[in-house]
Amino acid sequence: MPSITDHPSTRRAIPAVPVLSLAAFRPAGKAPPSLLDAPALRHVTSGRIAIGMALRALGVGPGDTVLVPAYHSPSMVPPVHWRGARAVFYRVHPDTTADLDDIAAKLDPTVKAVMATHFFGIPQDLAPLRALCDRHGIGLVEDCAHCLFGTRGPVAVGSSGDYAIGSSMKFFPVYDGGCLVSHRHPLDVRLQGGGAGFEAKAALNTLEAAFAHGRLPVLRAALALPLRLKEALWNRVKARRGARADGTPADGAPAPSTLAPASSDSGFDFDPRWMDRRASLFARLVLRFAARARIVALRRRHYLQLEQALAGLPGCRPLFPALPDGACPWVFPVLFDDPEPVFAALQRARVPVVRFGAVLWPGVDASVCPNSADLGRRLIAFPCHQELSAAERTWLCAAIGDAARAGAAVAA
Ligand SMILES: *Cc1c(COP(=O)(O)O)cnc(C)c1O
Repeated sequence: MPSITDHPSTRRAIPAVPVLSLAAFRPAGKAPPSLLDAPALRHVTSGRIAIGMALRALGVGPGDTVLVPAYHSPSMVPPVHWRGARAVFYRVHPDTTADLDDIAAKLDPTVKAVMATHFFGIPQDLAPLRALCDRHGIGLVEDCAHCLFGTRGPVAVGSSGDYAIGSSMKFFPVYDGGCLVSHRHPLDVRLQGGGAGFEAKAALNTLEAAFAHGRLPVLRAALALPLRLKEALWNRVKARRGARADGTPADGAPAPSTLAPASSDSGFDFDPRWMDRRASLFARLVLRFAARARIVALRRRHYLQLEQALAGLPGCRPLFPALPDGACPWVFPVLFDDPEPVFAALQRARVPVVRFGAVLWPGVDASVCPNSADLGRRLIAFPCHQELSAAERTWLCAAIGDAARAGAAVAA
């Protein structure tokens, strides 16, 4: 039996998230339905900023309550607090769908909005929740952070909520990016730029991430010298920003005091200084020109390859019994009976994973929602994004198999 140690440890780690490639821009057929087709659309710097803007548009303010799924990303909660509102957590079913009875039980006159998430890219049926919100005059924020593309039956993602939000960083090879969309209301907001330092950082970080994984070698060679000058440039940009006493850039808006939002560096922080800021030009160009059909087709193919490779492995099963038609997966989520030894083995092998829900908002435990606690403990998700090469996928499948067998051997 092959073991993890057969994989050379000097191997370059495979990309956890999509990195830039030339293939991303080759024409690839008819664009699939996407949040990005909504009649009203604003590109901002992150999904969490879009949540804050959606809650503001719904008039959420001090004294209001927002219902949030107990299974969540902790980045979903600070935008609620930013509005001065209270987050109350509702239960989800074992398959991550919203528990409508629990939502109904938690309704009181302070509830102003409900957030509903299409977890891992599988669109849920939001019609019953939409009807409940309509009956009670409550706003619905459709969280499509995992679900930028897709349909469920005839319903396109993003069309059920009063507002929907996306996290373009999770699907496109970009450093920053989220979107706020609506099929139901005009978007009455004007965005301002994030500043020259942010624009430069967004472009360079995207390129460097690609270079770090061996992508775009020709461009890398061409840029070797400019990139070596980058540190010097940063120091100058930072020094200039520090020297400007009132922090006011030419366009009159107060400058965000950090060069780029923390949301681009994989934390859960919410920085209101990035409210109403436009996504970087680099990110908007990538979103404009990358072939969307390729993203959807390859993510589905890679998901199905992982599903097939893991079939029959001991001690685990895919969270979803099948990949529905019309879904574009974010990652491939797997439930492990005894996750910790498997997780340790995966870390030793440098397999990129997402343990979505392992960290929940303080106080959200099994007494609030047993299913969320169980998902958070047992779920390990693997990348299935469009930029995994055939060799990387073969290695990934083998490494997951090794880790699952090693974990099951510990359990036995
Ligand atoms: C990532 C995520 C967000 C926030 O998106 P960012 O772009 O990281 O701010 C919101 N909801 C869910 C479910 C997420 O996973």
